[in-house]
Amino acid sequence: MRTTALPSLLALALARAAVAAPPEKLPDLAELKKVSAKLARVELSADVSALPPSERAALVKILEAARVMDGLFQRQVWAGNPSLLSALARDETPLGRARLEAFLQNQGPWLRLDHDRPFLPEVGGKPESANFYPAGASKAEVEAWMKSLPEAERAKATGFFTTIRRAPDGKLVAVPYSVEYQGELAHAARLLREAAQLTQQPTLRAFLEKRAAAFLSNDYYDSDVAWMKLESSIEPTIGPYEVYEDGWFNYKAAFQAFVTIRDDAETAKLQKFSAELQEIENHLPIADALKNPKLGALAPIRVVSSIYSSGDANKGVQTAAFNLPNDERIAKEMGTKRTMLKNVQQAKFQKVLVPIAKVALSKTDQKHVSFDAFFTHILMHELMHGLGPHEIAVGGKRSTVREQLQSSYSAIEEAKADVSGLFALQHLIDKGVVDKSMERTMYTTFLASSFRSIRFGVKEAHGRGIALQLNYMLDAGAYRVAPDGTFSVDSSKVKEAVKNLTSELMTIQGHGDRARAEALLAKMAVVRPEVQRVLDKLGHVPIDIAPRFVTAEKLLAEGVSSPAPKGAAR
Ligand code: ZN
Repeated sequence: MRTTALPSLLALALARAAVAAPPEKLPDLAELKKVSAKLARVELSADVSALPPSERAALVKILEAARVMDGLFQRQVWAGNPSLLSALARDETPLGRARLEAFLQNQGPWLRLDHDRPFLPEVGGKPESANFYPAGASKAEVEAWMKSLPEAERAKATGFFTTIRRAPDGKLVAVPYSVEYQGELAHAARLLREAAQLTQQPTLRAFLEKRAAAFLSNDYYDSDVAWMKLESSIEPTIGPYEVYEDGWFNYKAAFQAFVTIRDDAETAKLQKFSAELQEIENHLPIADALKNPKLGALAPIRVVSSIYSSGDANKGVQTAAFNLPNDERIAKEMGTKRTMLKNVQQAKFQKVLVPIAKVALSKTDQKHVSFDAFFTHILMHELMHGLGPHEIAVGGKRSTVREQLQSSYSAIEEAKADVSGLFALQHLIDKGVVDKSMERTMYTTFLASSFRSIRFGVKEAHGRGIALQLNYMLDAGAYRVAPDGTFSVDSSKVKEAVKNLTSELMTIQGHGDRARAEALLAKMAVVRPEVQRVLDKLGHVPIDIAPRFVTAEKLLAEGVSSPAPKGAAR
């Protein structure tokens, strides 16, 4: 039951007025449309025709459970969201429609692509603490309370799966998600158990049953382990995961779902590459002493197509790959699993990268931009994170590259994975493992994708790593800039430059040479004028995609008419 929206909204706004930012002009219809156009509309689909009836039926139930995550996440973002959404749903004016669309894209009344600017009246600024902590509490108060608790209590209060609320006596308490979100989680758990009864795949059934149990018990460990062990044509990720929405402490996990279908062709490609990794390591362009004679076990990687995402996984910029779980016990015991959403990457490629290439590259080079090269390089990037120096000796003591390079580590490591990914693919082309045609496309496609990455800025690791590579290649003559400002690859120089930069970065890592890393980044991780001139011309190109989940829509529509599974509680 929902009460009328506005009085409660107003009350909330007033309660927060003391901390809210000064009022801004709200975007009108034209402006909302402009912001929304930064995300290109795209229909996201996947081939589910190979799934037998049992799995299709299970998939429908999983999709229904995934839909529950939207409402849960909206409540986590802001207490006012549920009533706000029902008020918006009743507003049939053009502005009302645009606001509803913006609300769903942003999972709340703030524009995530425009510095969280509010687009509805009376909502104030986006609360940094989201709805994880009591309204009216200050960060200092919550922090002091957490510090005052005995160890076991503190672990609960700072844990992923509790909210902090104020008891009637005014004291702060930690409330388990299983209590705070009891109704929604019971509903989602029921749907997951129905799916578990339908599927014939044992690892999928185990995950669904255990995740359903976790929603009720608040203990997610067993279900995270079961998720790591999934070997199934359907790969669902559903529950509380990432902590970024908690702007105070990054403690509290936000609800999300990715419902995905395994991509068998890419999975086979991945296996083929994995079998070559030791051989690639042996041929790295670095001193033999820095090479690893025996690579450890590979962290699992899955290539899938997304048919639905919700909650924290469907807001603003779309996730194209993720590493989970975040539970450090599992990361230690079995590593984390990297999941790559191939069709999301493909949509981004078509809607963002191809238009960028048309501006950034010469006419000839534009022809050599290909999705296959784009995606294959992303796969190789992930694999190359596992190669090269990690555990090193510095002054006779055991250490790690991360420890030694400190704040320069991430940018150097990302650049290393990119450039050594090109090196590794070239090695496999020369060896005949990868088709020779890739040689023509991979360097050009990577150059185009550099402009896509650098657009997000050179403050964070990926952007810095990309700027470093772009400038290194320019200085080596491997990339050239024509008088009209377009870029192209010099195929006579690019292989050598890729080899040399791979050598430079891995040697810095192998010696833990922070001074050299910092000097390299200071000089190279910058946006040069010729790059800026291209970026200035990209205003019309979308930042990202806004997917419509057409396969999920179709399955859900079919699912309505199908009978309830035998023995399943409804
Ligand atoms: Zn990476």
